[in-house]
Amino acid sequence: MDLNKKIRTTIGQGHLYDSVIETIGNTPVIKLKNLSPKNVSIFVKAEFFNPAGSVKDRLAINIIEEAERKGILKPGQTVIEATSGNTGVGLAMVCAQKGYPLVIVMAESFSVERRKLMRMYGAKVILTPKEEKGLGMYKKAIELAKLNNWFLASQFETSANADIHQYTTAQEIINDFKGTNLDYIVTGYGTGGTVTGIGREIKSKLKDTKIILSEPENASLLLSGVEQERSSDGYAEKSHSAFQPHLIQGWTPDFIPLVIQESIDEKLYDDIIPISGPESIAASIKLAQKEGILTGISGGGTLAVALKLAKTSKDGTVILAMLPDTGERYLSTMLFENIAEEMNEEEISIMKSTPGFHLKN
Ligand code: PMP
Repeated sequence: MDLNKKIRTTIGQGHLYDSVIETIGNTPVIKLKNLSPKNVSIFVKAEFFNPAGSVKDRLAINIIEEAERKGILKPGQTVIEATSGNTGVGLAMVCAQKGYPLVIVMAESFSVERRKLMRMYGAKVILTPKEEKGLGMYKKAIELAKLNNWFLASQFETSANADIHQYTTAQEIINDFKGTNLDYIVTGYGTGGTVTGIGREIKSKLKDTKIILSEPENASLLLSGVEQERSSDGYAEKSHSAFQPHLIQGWTPDFIPLVIQESIDEKLYDDIIPISGPESIAASIKLAQKEGILTGISGGGTLAVALKLAKTSKDGTVILAMLPDTGERYLSTMLFENIAEEMNEEEISIMKSTPGFHLKN
């Protein structure tokens, strides 16, 4: 230990928070000192610092506050949404704090941690069959909202989604990279809120920054070039022909959401680089073990793409990869499949190396 080094100190935020909602956003951008190749700097934007653990806390608060401003959400009215999980957890946090009952509709295939988290915050969770995919849960939420006059959050269509990324996420990135070049931003898409909001701002303010979008290799809806069929109000009506079930929870539902359609139409991203589920999982594990940063499978996906980009980039390139959520949300999934519960041989031999406190088996 270097005894000349002083102990680390902290000074707090300099202000008191009025509620948990005020802690949403302003997530840190962190350099990957061990995984960045020598000539390139990779940074990650750690969205798991949001209070309910994901990027979707941003959208959750904006959907609710915009509906309050417009008067379309009445005090005490039930909120309903179809979600692969993180939006549900974010909405559950916001609705608990603001006193709105919440019903979440979710396909049974998403991780059980997500269901339990939402119920912990007091939400009701309605499951739909996995065979019906994303569109099944989405149509069920629309039916229930109509029948009960509940407020449907509509994350896949609402302008409140990309708006909040334009007004918060993009501004944070611009501010944090002030004075430094930023060559690439890498993100995937679920609704497309992140890429559309960032894209609107970055395309006009950081003209040299390229936005790289990723999607699952086995469900490359955008790369397929096949357009999505929609109703006149923008709702997707049919499952997309290029969709196949994939491992990257939160990315690419079985339809192209209206929110990302803006990115396609306005060319808000520069390139699409697909990535496989296993490569995403491997990158997520590497990030935990080499950098001490725990993210989900989609965060592994963006990192895997960033590492590929880094290999062919010129010296001095700076890459930012979005990390949408925390790895703790995946304890029951493939991400943790090879992480053991029991002691391995090496651990057993460490245990046996002193006389006390042996487990029998
Ligand atoms: N990763 C995860 C784990 C998510 O839950 C989501 C949102 N569904 C995304 C990525 C994609 O974010 P967006 O909806 O803003 O495109």
